[in-house]
Amino acid sequence: MTVTIDQLEDLGLLFGPAASLLRADRQNDILAGVGQTPREAEVTAFMAASDGALEQALIRSFCQVWGIEPACGLRLISGKAFGKETGQTDHRSIDLVVKIAKDDDGRPISRPVIAIEAKFAAMVNGKWGYCPQHLGHTDRRYSNQIICYVNGCTNSLLDEGVGFVWLGLPSKVPGQPLWGKKAINPNDGLEDAFVEQTAATQRWRMLTWPSLFADVDNIAANSDVRDAVLRALGRGTRA
Ligand SMILES: [Zn+2]
Repeated sequence: MTVTIDQLEDLGLLFGPAASLLRADRQNDILAGVGQTPREAEVTAFMAASDGALEQALIRSFCQVWGIEPACGLRLISGKAFGKETGQTDHRSIDLVVKIAKDDDGRPISRPVIAIEAKFAAMVNGKWGYCPQHLGHTDRRYSNQIICYVNGCTNSLLDEGVGFVWLGLPSKVPGQPLWGKKAINPNDGLEDAFVEQTAATQRWRMLTWPSLFADVDNIAANSDVRDAVLRALGRGTRA
């Protein structure tokens, strides 16, 4: 059986309006496993469009990293959508946010619980003058995603109260952080930024793609559906 975005929407595993944004993204070919491998951006778009059992499995996986019992009513959205909802669109975005979507009276809110950066083999983004926000008092400081994402630089609501998850490929060196040599290293001549990064590292927890795949492995009784979803999440291609 060939599984499509429309079918996943009918099965309640993708959220209609968000799922419609996926169609142009080669997602049906990826689901069918006809040689297309998903890019990072396509995988995060797929996760942001998740609904029902798939969305809840992803949320559970992200919450487990921080030992948080996932309360009902949590939703997973893109960092861009979170920026829009919270009126902060002029910054970079982290990939995904798990949020409390309603207050006790059922009114819609956007209270973040977990924020996720999802990486395959890409470098940790960073450069001189990367962040005008938290290092803004000087014009050209070196900074990167590890530092800025946990310091409220992408969104002022993504700060101390939020659990940050780095979703990455398993490290080849046991015990090494998933960003490995892609982050700032002691011999890079970036002492200040290295100190900042070392502090920021304490705020991140790691989740590997294979762990995530294991956590979503039971989202559907139909194995074709499961396999298609896992392909869309990148299993068997890069991770
Ligand atoms: Zn910053």
